[in-house]
Amino acid sequence: MFDSAKGRLIPRASVCVENDVIVAVVDGELPGGNGQTVDLRGRTLLPGLIDAHVHVTATVPDFFKLSLMPQSLITAQSKTILEAMLHRGYTTVRDAGGADSGLVQAIEEGHLVGPRLYIAGRAITQTGGHGDPRPAFFSNMNCVCCGSVGLLGCIADGVPEVRRAVREQLRNGAHHIKVMAGGGISTPNDPLDGTQFSIEELTAIVEEAAAARTYVMAHAYSPEAIMRAVRCGVRSIEHGNLLDAESARLMAEHGVYLVPTLATYAAVAKVGKNLGWSPAMLEKAERVMDRGIEALRIARDAGVKIALGSDLLGQMHESQYNELVLRQAAMPPSEVLRSATYVNAELMNQSSRLGIIAEGAQADLLVMDGNPVEDLSAFLDERNLLMVMKAGKLVLNRVEASLND
Ligand code: ZN
Ligand code: ZN
Repeated sequence: MFDSAKGRLIPRASVCVENDVIVAVVDGELPGGNGQTVDLRGRTLLPGLIDAHVHVTATVPDFFKLSLMPQSLITAQSKTILEAMLHRGYTTVRDAGGADSGLVQAIEEGHLVGPRLYIAGRAITQTGGHGDPRPAFFSNMNCVCCGSVGLLGCIADGVPEVRRAVREQLRNGAHHIKVMAGGGISTPNDPLDGTQFSIEELTAIVEEAAAARTYVMAHAYSPEAIMRAVRCGVRSIEHGNLLDAESARLMAEHGVYLVPTLATYAAVAKVGKNLGWSPAMLEKAERVMDRGIEALRIARDAGVKIALGSDLLGQMHESQYNELVLRQAAMPPSEVLRSATYVNAELMNQSSRLGIIAEGAQADLLVMDGNPVEDLSAFLDERNLLMVMKAGKLVLNRVEASLND
């Protein structure tokens, strides 16, 4: 059993699940009782994985196109993305912009099958910022109140507008707030190393989130964008590929989490050209891809808390496991798994409830053949994933079948 708090394996453990919760975890064997017993000898039991940076409504990798699609179609397409994530063993995901509380409710009510979903609503972006996908000169639909441009972003400028934009997300059921604090890759006109929003605006955004007892996740690449966001009080830096020793130190000092998303650059490098991404966008992707692992090393050395996200779009979602595999270049597999479970849960203020196999936690469990803690590439062969349980319910079960082999 993988002990995600300590990042190590416990050789002989037994876990008892009742309804949706884990009621007992013991070293050794549990006394038999009523109910079903599953013998997992020779296999590894893990907490359900958490992906702390997804866009489940990014069904096509083009945010402008997405903004012109009917909401009903996007919802129908999200169904496939959500289902596939859960079947990969991601029992919880944190959406970084796009998903709304209708999706959360649809999963809770069983209309859709998917991970437990935490949402940001729309990402707060300045005009021309990373959440504003409009081509130049396309200027309608740009106010906060009818900010339907790009289902991913909500455009707001100035302190009163950003306050209103944050309150609007919270009113609609956002669990956390996402802000675009610097340039991005998938948008046309914002330089990657640029900063976005003024200090006053960023401070107001954090203040509104804190007033509602939640937190802000900030998209930022460059050291300057990172440091501004950290000083304004955000809880996590998303991507952070260009961070340096100074910005890493500041993050560690403020207890800010880093959520690297390496899988997405690898995926874009592979398929971006065929998807019609512009040379400028592809060039930005290449620049950050090479820097991603180095940034991870710098952050780890500085003692920054490392979470885990994937940030995939459209059909690129299928490389979600690649995030686990790529990181092995910068940290041991046990630490990567700890990021994907324990640290992500902590980031989301869900410690002791999610990302851990412990008494009182949600019964989100995976069974893997062999030992993925030695090499996370084990995830790349789907036959190795034998069981997925979300809140005590089996989503996938191949255990009996493989026992009879
Ligand atoms: Zn981003
Ligand atoms: Zn994102």
